[in-house]
Amino acid sequence: MTNRTRSDWQAFADSLSIEGRAFIGGQCVDALSGAVTDNVNPATGAVTVQVASCDERDVDLAVASAREAFEKGEWRKLAPAKRKAVLLRWADLIEQHWEELAMLESLDTGKPIACTMDDDGGDVHSSIRTLRWTAECIDKLYGETTPHEQDTLGIVSREPVGVVAAIMPWNYPLATTMWKLAPALGAGNSVVLKPASLTPLTAIKIALLADKAGLPAGVLNVITGPGARLGKALGLHMDVDCIGFTGSTPIGKELLKYSGESNLKLIFNELGGKSANIIFADANLDKAIPSSAAAIFFNSGQTCSAGSRLLVHEDVHDEVVRRLTEVAESTWQPGHPMDPNTLMGPMISTSQLKTVQSYVDLAQEEGARVVCGGSSVSIDGCDLYYKPTILCDVRNDMRVAQEEIFGPVLCVIKFKTAEEAIALANDCIYGLSGAVWTENLRTAHKVATEMRTGNVNVNAYFGADNQISMPFGGFRQTGNGRDKSIHAFDEYTVLKGIWFDFRQA
Ligand code: NAP
Repeated sequence: MTNRTRSDWQAFADSLSIEGRAFIGGQCVDALSGAVTDNVNPATGAVTVQVASCDERDVDLAVASAREAFEKGEWRKLAPAKRKAVLLRWADLIEQHWEELAMLESLDTGKPIACTMDDDGGDVHSSIRTLRWTAECIDKLYGETTPHEQDTLGIVSREPVGVVAAIMPWNYPLATTMWKLAPALGAGNSVVLKPASLTPLTAIKIALLADKAGLPAGVLNVITGPGARLGKALGLHMDVDCIGFTGSTPIGKELLKYSGESNLKLIFNELGGKSANIIFADANLDKAIPSSAAAIFFNSGQTCSAGSRLLVHEDVHDEVVRRLTEVAESTWQPGHPMDPNTLMGPMISTSQLKTVQSYVDLAQEEGARVVCGGSSVSIDGCDLYYKPTILCDVRNDMRVAQEEIFGPVLCVIKFKTAEEAIALANDCIYGLSGAVWTENLRTAHKVATEMRTGNVNVNAYFGADNQISMPFGGFRQTGNGRDKSIHAFDEYTVLKGIWFDFRQA
């Protein structure tokens, strides 16, 4: 990063001029109703900016603008290499504004500046990598010719699906948004982006930069406001062809209903998780312990792929819990996001904090033991910080082991055999991520292949998440979507077969 201090970062934040209007048809616009809402910094409670509070009429406008751009074809019909050039210019502009974007992400989410500015796995740099990597694919995606007889020809090509709505969560706003925008735009679609109402700032900023990079007006639109209104209107809209959704499982289910009630638009859901992180007795604990702590405490546990269920072999259980507690208490104590030494900031909102506390209370009622943490802490007058928390004596059938807490709360569960660990890992409605720690290759292979989850790491935790070349998505009630990698294009393209018959009658 740099050696800037908390007051340097604060001064930088204060110097920013922040856009809070929606972006429709290539222009920043107020909501048609003129309504606005306060965008609040969770770390201070201060209002960062007022943001347009759109309604159904703004949705119609944004969808019409996207449809018009799609039909006009200025973007869709552009040569793939030229679309690539625009997206690469966009990536360059994002890079030029990376500190501003990282600061917006911190102000919006309360994430530590050390995380959003991190030039390896940080929010902005990972988004730039996603955009560049995906843009580079555009002119390398080939179609097919089918087996055919003499004087005939069958070709199978991929066409953009049309108007894509991207509905996004608040936990990794920029990174997850770019996972959708890069392939959706790269494939030639027009997009209506609906960021989470708590975290709209980077979405607006990157849309302005896309415009500057030469993306034609109407190809990328951003509408801001409550999901219950806008997300529903997009879900039910007859002129939206596809929704790329990242968020909670209940809302993912709603979207499938909206699709059935309207035009059968494609729905790709990237939903919740309760991932199992499995430590065997022969694991390299020097590597497993810090990684397992980061797996649950990074971003205050507000991570879909967090390693929130720690399955530990009984022979190393006590040592693992002791060492994890030491790491939690030394490395992961919450702090102010603008302090460059902070690794864990506040929770996003009071309601999220209350949810976390209610799960910790419930865990104790269900018989679990709080080994460390278990309560919130106030920092500089803000009460939204939650201590890194480890719960022991957890059974897999307890609600805290089955439901997504979305906070820095680790549930530790003992096991005896690999078969038992696999059964525990799979006894869950979700299936997003997970890990297995062992020096035994056969055990690693057996467990990794038998876990019913979209990603498994062997002797790492967020390894797969950090690779743009790996698909990201889940099994079961984590949904059907796949972000990242070449497979992301599958969501935003439809297959077309064209049959030529060259024979004379
Ligand atoms: P959420 O409450 O489901 O909200 C996600 C988005 O849906 C927001 O933009 C929200 O708008 C909108 N929305 C709300 N009600 C809607 C409705 N009735 N119809 C359509 N859209 C609606 O999720 P969240 O709390 O923002 O994010 C946390 C969840 O996301 C967790 O479950 C986490 O596991 C999941 N997640 C999954 C992945 C993955 O890749 N699998 C990645 C990150 C997060 P408002 O913000 O205005 O309410």
